[in-house]
Amino acid sequence: MASIAPRPAAQAQGFAEHPVTREAALLRLDAFLPQAGLVYAARRNEEHGAGRHHAVSRLSAALRRRLVSEAEVVARVRAAHGESADKFVTEVFWRSYFKGWLEARPQVWASWRGDLHRLDLRLGEDDGFAARHLAACRGETGIDCFDHWVEELEATGYLHNWARMQFASIWVFTLGLPWQLGARFFLDRLIDGDAASNTLSWRWVAGLHTRGKAYLADADRIARMTGGRFSPRGLATVARIPDEPPAPAAALPRAPLRWQAGVATVLWLTTEDLSLELEAALGDLDVRGVAVLASDGAVPADKTALGDGVQRAVARWHCPFRVCSSAEELAAFAHGEGAGQVLTGFATVGPALEAFPEMKRALRHAGLTLGEHRRAWDDRAWPHATKGFFALKEKIPQLIAAAGIR
Ligand SMILES: Cc1cc2nc3c(=O)[nH]c(=O)nc-3n(C[C@H](O)[C@H](O)[C@H](O)COP(=O)(O)OP(=O)(O)OC[C@H]3O[C@@H](n4cnc5c(N)ncnc54)[C@H](O)[C@@H]3O)c2cc1C
Repeated sequence: MASIAPRPAAQAQGFAEHPVTREAALLRLDAFLPQAGLVYAARRNEEHGAGRHHAVSRLSAALRRRLVSEAEVVARVRAAHGESADKFVTEVFWRSYFKGWLEARPQVWASWRGDLHRLDLRLGEDDGFAARHLAACRGETGIDCFDHWVEELEATGYLHNWARMQFASIWVFTLGLPWQLGARFFLDRLIDGDAASNTLSWRWVAGLHTRGKAYLADADRIARMTGGRFSPRGLATVARIPDEPPAPAAALPRAPLRWQAGVATVLWLTTEDLSLELEAALGDLDVRGVAVLASDGAVPADKTALGDGVQRAVARWHCPFRVCSSAEELAAFAHGEGAGQVLTGFATVGPALEAFPEMKRALRHAGLTLGEHRRAWDDRAWPHATKGFFALKEKIPQLIAAAGIR
């Protein structure tokens, strides 16, 4: 059985609320800045519902695609609030942490993929299981907050972080559904859907990230934090942690594919990194063209973000661009523009990396190589993301100083 498809309305309202162009993201950052300090620390967990998530930045869709970078956002909030922005800065580092952790354990993504295959077979064979899953996906569980959050996610592509935690906890511990199916339900719908943050947050709630430490949703707390909007009944009072083998030991993250300065280049823009034109390390690059794959823009938010990224790259390098329907077409475009290599943002574990073999093959046939640019932010943060979050948290002052942020 295939994944239950998002309803057509998904993400329709998301664009205004969750910026997916650089300009809109910078405007949002400006607007959010006054409250990024102690106000954020005090109020970030308040959950007021769709259209009223004013206590949080709603920058995740932009950060996820690097329409704005972590470094830029952290620099702005530090300049405005100094150490009073510590809570917000720490949250931004959760993104870096999850990315680095998954880079060091790509098997966790691969085994999630395998589990989904197995669970889809079960959904096809076990009617009771399929009915429980369907009721959850349709928001027909009778648990008021959960059913409401399904509606909100379908309509906007977003849920507040705190709501995501309650949702995932109810999915796993109250409804007794596998975390893997819940992670897919989110990834298919979130406007900020991210392989690392999503998969690992679901594992964290289920008690698989910090072994034995699960997150159990509590009815009274939900009523309090939502201003009395919900009073869920029948929530699990015990967290039965799924019986799974421990995560593998951390390995060294994959090194970026090499590229050469001075070689004519076509930029392949993906939703991994859509502000490469601002990277000082690429300042002297001889860019002959900018290309995107049409398939990368299948989701409306990605299409808008890619269009925005292309516009800025073309304005920066004054070169032609092409929307390509296949890796072969992209290779032919690069060859036609006289390029010797194609450069792209570092492909992290997840769908981005899964697209690589096909692109490498097509480029090789055209006599071209593929290179990746990994940001210094990731190079510095990821080595500290191999254990629990606190090992990275301790390094935050050094990491932001190394990024030139005061
Ligand atoms: C079950 C579950 C699934 C999630 N799936 C995703 C996902 O697919 N993509 C995604 O980007 N985030 C995911 N998150 C993390 C978090 O919920 C969102 O990043 C956050 O809600 C985005 O809203 P915001 O930009 O207003 O956050 P703010 O509170 O304004 O935080 C600022 C930034 O910090 C980062 N951040 C904040 N909290 C977290 C966190 N817990 N983990 C990682 N980064 C964080 C984000 O980049 C965010 O934009 C998930 C969390 C849970 C519990």
